[in-house]
Amino acid sequence: MKLSKRATMVKPSPTLAITAKAKAMSAQGIDVISFGAGEPDFDTPQHIKDAAIAALQQGFTKYTPVGGIDELKEAICAKLEQENKVLYQKEQILVSCGGKHSFYNLAQALIDDGDEVIIPAPYWVSYPPMVMLAGGKPVIVNTSEEEGFKLLPDALEQAITPKTKAVVINSPSNPTGSAYTRKELERLAQVALQRTIHIISDEIYEKIVYEGFEHASIASLGEEVKAITIIVNGLSKTYAMTGWRIGYTAGPQELIAAMNRIQSQSTSNPTSFAQKGALDALQGSQAEISIMVAEYQRRRDLIWKALTSIQGVSCYKPQGAFYVFPNVGAYLGKGQKGGQIKDTGQLADYLLDQARVAVVPGIEFGAEGYLRLSYPIATEVIQEGVKRIKEALARLG
Ligand code: PLP
Repeated sequence: MKLSKRATMVKPSPTLAITAKAKAMSAQGIDVISFGAGEPDFDTPQHIKDAAIAALQQGFTKYTPVGGIDELKEAICAKLEQENKVLYQKEQILVSCGGKHSFYNLAQALIDDGDEVIIPAPYWVSYPPMVMLAGGKPVIVNTSEEEGFKLLPDALEQAITPKTKAVVINSPSNPTGSAYTRKELERLAQVALQRTIHIISDEIYEKIVYEGFEHASIASLGEEVKAITIIVNGLSKTYAMTGWRIGYTAGPQELIAAMNRIQSQSTSNPTSFAQKGALDALQGSQAEISIMVAEYQRRRDLIWKALTSIQGVSCYKPQGAFYVFPNVGAYLGKGQKGGQIKDTGQLADYLLDQARVAVVPGIEFGAEGYLRLSYPIATEVIQEGVKRIKEALARLG
């Protein structure tokens, strides 16, 4: 069969592929530790489930307005105003089937063939394919571990061409856990304003921050900045709701209306009763978030300490999200009798086969020499997993 060019352009999400491989090994009875999937191990808080169950029982099981029910959009506006200090009307909000779908719709509505989108690396694996599926060209700008994996204003400036449509800022970041301060965002916003490009601000990890780090939404830096910014966010990570598929976008009304049209001809509304759960998540008790975040911080400390105790491994200490991105470059070019390990793809295969530990190769995030480990797993499992990695790396001559 001759598939479309679009279909052959994208490969499956590597994180999901690695997780599936680890699960298949577990199903065969192999004791695998997976640092693959980026999702909380906590269950969704009970009050959120109860709200969705009540919605089902009350027969809230039909189509809703394409871009989400008004109450949910209003709750999102209230959240953005109270927490992010930025004012939106409900016409500027679109609820979609997860943050990924929000970004997808946004790319479809904003990007034309040949438009460039600046993506700082290391990046979330799905940005470049979604830009490409919209006909755009991802322009990858490398950042360095020394600079905290942050895009610097000069680097942004240099990457901008007449074809640049937008820059993607993801703070806190998947995969590095790096997060921008308000000052750093101000400098980037200045460049974006001067060069008239849009800012796509993915804030899905905003609540998962450590040691009092204060997340700032770039859209809150003033009316001018807000006018060029589109916020992408969702409930998956904060409320342990990955399977519910509720994400949202906040931005200029004209753009949101265009995204709404695209959504109306593809998925239609996000699941009706999941929206009711999301409404309760935003309006109900927020107490469980701090419990989850405190636990992630404990695990971050543990995994970071364990990884940095491995000879030759350095690791940026994350300020947010639930990933670590250790530098394992010192182990590339090394090998066992079987041959040399040339890249982190081979290193991840080696760790899965020989140490029964699933990690994601840095190259998938645009940064060779690194591995991504997702740590929302039990502390004993983290300890055992890193021990296995340490021993397996030590066996590489
Ligand atoms: N943005 C980033 C940076 C992510 O890591 C993810 C999920 O891994 C998403 C957006 C989308 O999450 P979801 O589609 O589950 O809401």
